[in-house]
Amino acid sequence: MLRADLHLHTTASDGQLRPADVVQLARKNHLNTIAITDHDTTDGVEEACQVANNSPVVIAGIELSAEENDTDVHMLGYYVQPENAGFKVALSQFQHDRLNRGEAMVAKLAALGKPVSWARVLELADGGSVGRPHVARAMVEARHVESINEAFDRYLHHGGPAYVSRKRMSPEEAIQLIHLAGGVAVMAHPGLVPDYLVILERLAAAGLDGVEFNHPRNPATVRENVRAIALRHNLIMTGGSDFHRQGDPMGAYTAPPESLLALRERQALY
Ligand code: AMP
Ligand code: ZN
Ligand code: FE
Ligand code: FE
Repeated sequence: MLRADLHLHTTASDGQLRPADVVQLARKNHLNTIAITDHDTTDGVEEACQVANNSPVVIAGIELSAEENDTDVHMLGYYVQPENAGFKVALSQFQHDRLNRGEAMVAKLAALGKPVSWARVLELADGGSVGRPHVARAMVEARHVESINEAFDRYLHHGGPAYVSRKRMSPEEAIQLIHLAGGVAVMAHPGLVPDYLVILERLAAAGLDGVEFNHPRNPATVRENVRAIALRHNLIMTGGSDFHRQGDPMGAYTAPPESLLALRERQALY
């Protein structure tokens, strides 16, 4: 039986397990295909591929942070080529922006009387892409809040007192960047995007290849709507758990088997 979880994070971004440990857990969960999809980086892919040695098969992926009207739109890329020069330049710019922005959030927290150590945030990021979850963890450790959720709810949410935005591309630009890197572009978790119907209609015309149908944050009505749009526009319906840490439901949200073949066929076009 084909079992594919196409949305997994590692310590290369804000996941808490190293790529090697994600692969081990995937084996335990009887997955035979996985995609490593870290935020704005492919740095976790190589280690995962080496450790996995095709069991499970590891798809080189990414989750790009795009934005539209102040809401996050995440774009998954599958079968991207990490060595593509233009892709590499764009990704290193994102890493640079994330570092500056992380430091700016730490400065805001200090001004709010909730200091955390920037060195500690970097340590928590473990050499990976720095994100708000790392700042949130440092806040928990410093006992400013009791949980990561509280850190987001009180300080780090979009527009919150310690929030700092960063320049983000449009969903169309994210699709283009993924295609430039030879990959297939799939809109992530539409259930988390308020205007997903309007956005999907537009992106389908702009070259979008697929949409993440099976995801823990897609309620039944979203799935029905997404299925209808996907059929109408010939979008590939994928799935994944959005795994970040031990306890997340890896393997419980999978990609329909036919979607894997469709992704590969589509990839051959780019
Ligand atoms: P960033 O990319 O640095 O803006 O951080 C966004 C990431 O933070 C998302 O991709 C989620 O993984 C995580 N996140 C967002 N909201 C929460 C929350 N309430 N609790 C825990 N993690 C969150
Ligand atoms: Zn994340
Ligand atoms: Fe996401
Ligand atoms: Fe994700």
